[in-house]
Amino acid sequence: MIDLLIEKLRSVLPDDRSFLALHEPNFQGNEWQYVKECLDTGWVSSVGKYVDLFEQKLVEYTGVSHAVAVVNGTAALHISLLLSGVEAGDEVLMPTLTFIATANAVSYCGAIPHFVDCEFRTLGLDPRKLATYLAEIAEVRQDECYNRQTGRRIKAIVPMHTFGHPVDLDPLLDLCARYQIELVEDAAESLGSFYKGQHTGGFGHIAALSFNGNKVITTGGGGAILTNDAELAKRAKHLTTTAKVPHKWEYNHDAIGYNYRLPNLNAALGCAQLEQLPGFLAQKRTLAKRYQEALQDVPGLTFVTEPDFAKSNYWLNAILLDETEAHRRDELLRATNEQGIMTRPFWTGMHKLPMFADCPRMDLTVAESLEWRTINIPSSPFLGGRHDEA
Ligand SMILES: *Cc1c(COP(=O)(O)O)cnc(C)c1O
Repeated sequence: MIDLLIEKLRSVLPDDRSFLALHEPNFQGNEWQYVKECLDTGWVSSVGKYVDLFEQKLVEYTGVSHAVAVVNGTAALHISLLLSGVEAGDEVLMPTLTFIATANAVSYCGAIPHFVDCEFRTLGLDPRKLATYLAEIAEVRQDECYNRQTGRRIKAIVPMHTFGHPVDLDPLLDLCARYQIELVEDAAESLGSFYKGQHTGGFGHIAALSFNGNKVITTGGGGAILTNDAELAKRAKHLTTTAKVPHKWEYNHDAIGYNYRLPNLNAALGCAQLEQLPGFLAQKRTLAKRYQEALQDVPGLTFVTEPDFAKSNYWLNAILLDETEAHRRDELLRATNEQGIMTRPFWTGMHKLPMFADCPRMDLTVAESLEWRTINIPSSPFLGGRHDEA
């Protein structure tokens, strides 16, 4: 099975490269020009036109009314949680299968991650299983949700669109309304992914994007806060720019703020990358389709496709080993990586990490199964070939 898998992967991948990364950045557009302009004019840091332009282009692309550019996705999550009213001692629901940033951001607020199980269909959190769980442990008192077992307030939930595949948001929104829980979308992986025709990141209170080097588009490091609420956007801008009160020369600050603003240099890169996003997405769809076709005859595994309610950006392609084959995961990882085809396992469940081991959690059977069976395969846009027409 492993030999056949490698043969099939090779049939999709170019044969002129000795190493294929999981996700490489691509700078074939106006990156050099825009970055050079920053260097030539000296506007590299906290002032310059590209930050505003980048925010404006994000708004246009996503259809979410406001975007605030920040230094990275983790910072975007941190501020999003603070602006959702998450306070020290609160609990925040999140899938256990996520990148560490989701749980870290909750911890920065002094809050406690509360781990939720995932579903096979999306690899993201399972709203139906969560509904059953909340019926057992949660109660609403004076418009706030409490965990009856710990006595703590459950303030927010952070669904994460795993590898770009949107979670089932409608039932989740129902739950949030019923239990008075704020929805904060971790859309770090899902720029270019749509749920029932609407871009991810616009469904809850507020959302976080990431433009790290391995994401669909990159600013080197970077992130953004998305929200449809003008007042929240204003507060996000204020908090991420040291809470400085605007004045011609005086340094007045009205809160403990953060130096989280995205430098102009990075925003310039982002503007050039956003211009190429439709092309990248077309290439990624082609690649996913080729993988799907090539891998359908390999026994013992399934290629992960977008859920039927969504259009995914296919940020990272993934295969899911059958339960009977799960014990061969490490062998498979070794064989592919030795051949220069970079593959990686799923993240370790957050509930297994030492700093989160004592956090509350529901039954995590599906997540634990997924964790052992999921493998990411090379997903750079260029692997999908050229799409000059895009
Ligand atoms: C990339 C990512 C983030 C944010 O990461 P940064 O490196 O801080 O930009 C957050 N959550 C998830 C799920 C991610 O994949």
